[in-house]
Amino acid sequence: MKLYFEISNFPWSPERYHYAAEQMMLTLFPGERPEYPAGPLPGDMGGEKNAAVFTLHRGKKLTNLSVLVFRSQGYYNGVSRFPSQELDRPPEEVYHTVQHALKIAFYKAGTALLGAQPPWGALTGVRPVKLPTRSLLAGNTPRQAQKELEKEYFVSPARAKLAVDCAQASVAAQKSLLPQEVSLYIGIPFCPTRCVYCSFVSADVGRTLKLVEPYLDSLLREVEETGRVLRETGLTVRSFYMGGGTPTTLSANQMDRLLSKCEECLPLEGCTEYTVEAGRPDTITIDKLETLARHKIGRISINPQTLEEHVLEAIGRKHSSDNIRAAYELTRRVGFDCVNMDLIAGLPQDSFDGFRRSLERVLAMAPENITVHTLALKKGSSLMEQGGCLPTGEKTAEMLDFSRETLTTEGYIPYYLYRQKYMSGSLENVGWAKPGTESLYNIIMMEELHTVVSLGAGGVTKLIGGGGKILRLTNPKYPQDYLSGLDKVLGQKQEIRSFYL
Ligand code: SF4
Repeated sequence: MKLYFEISNFPWSPERYHYAAEQMMLTLFPGERPEYPAGPLPGDMGGEKNAAVFTLHRGKKLTNLSVLVFRSQGYYNGVSRFPSQELDRPPEEVYHTVQHALKIAFYKAGTALLGAQPPWGALTGVRPVKLPTRSLLAGNTPRQAQKELEKEYFVSPARAKLAVDCAQASVAAQKSLLPQEVSLYIGIPFCPTRCVYCSFVSADVGRTLKLVEPYLDSLLREVEETGRVLRETGLTVRSFYMGGGTPTTLSANQMDRLLSKCEECLPLEGCTEYTVEAGRPDTITIDKLETLARHKIGRISINPQTLEEHVLEAIGRKHSSDNIRAAYELTRRVGFDCVNMDLIAGLPQDSFDGFRRSLERVLAMAPENITVHTLALKKGSSLMEQGGCLPTGEKTAEMLDFSRETLTTEGYIPYYLYRQKYMSGSLENVGWAKPGTESLYNIIMMEELHTVVSLGAGGVTKLIGGGGKILRLTNPKYPQDYLSGLDKVLGQKQEIRSFYL
């Protein structure tokens, strides 16, 4: 889609608004990619079938931001107005006012042409819970926060309620955190096989077996260095999360070495939550589970994604739904009392009935947490490259509606949610929990409540300071680069200390 900016009267250069325009374009017209034609706006747009023209006009009292959208079904002009005096405020505030107006005007024009409203209305970005959280912290009631989302951003009542429920969990989590606390993430980028929708850095362990031992040795050194820096800086770990990949591709002995090193070096005295992802049942054994339990791991994640055999096969899993049930039962026998299970709506070859059956079978196992994801087509995944038979966005929306109603009826509450680019139906991922079993780490990480220090390949440490200051430190993405770049990774840990001191 061609995006034209009538630039002369825009505060800030038009490039600064490209991202906002693209986000809204993807929300309204998901298949489109942006183009920014050079030169002036053509005099005659009559034959244009795929373009949007953004214009700002400052009047004496009101400023109009209009977006004229041209599509094959016709064209429509959307307008958003705000008091002109807002353009005299500090530049960063002006930027946000104009950005918001631009999205709303684009949304109005796009939805008028489409004759339909997306579930999240004009709300873009991965963290829809931030707005209602801010609203609650400003003293508004949940009802007022919900109305704001519905009126100002055209979010559907069901989605607005989801976001506000999660905002309440976020506010409660925020109140429980101490200033010196951070959370810690450790990445184990290995999996038994690669799922077709995966774009993570996970490597198929069959092909990279020889990397696992050196990777672990390097990780132990990173744990040591991180522990030293955190202690010197006076920081303590509040929640601990090991993900991947699939951490349980490590043997019981390797896991024991890693967790022993964490206990020895990291300031875990005030840590109230330990999670390890044991995503794939074909990696779960009793000796690994006993090792985890011995090291205080209290929350474990087993991720079936689906319990339909043909869908498991279509996504590249080499196990059956019976293996999932057996792994779950083993987990209970070892004594874990907080288990999360992930499902994905919109998987290749799945259907509404298939998803319903999977959810009902997961519910019959009664895990404390259930996370319902929506399939997102990601670059680098074989699904994106080779395609697959996917349910439509509408069918996926039906699956999510069903999960929302069923999980609520079964006594689960939504406690964190996020969205991703290229999600089926432009929907969401939602973490559900039996009250009192919400994962603090998930809320902290998604709502950026405090610093998360990440270790291992692909780890992104996000340092969060006062006044919204954020600094990211990235580790090399792939295991091989992580091994060769370890000295740099260790040296970079000093930046944690500089950031805080
Ligand atoms: S289990 Fe997760 S990380 Fe591993 S291949 Fe599948 S999607 Fe990727």
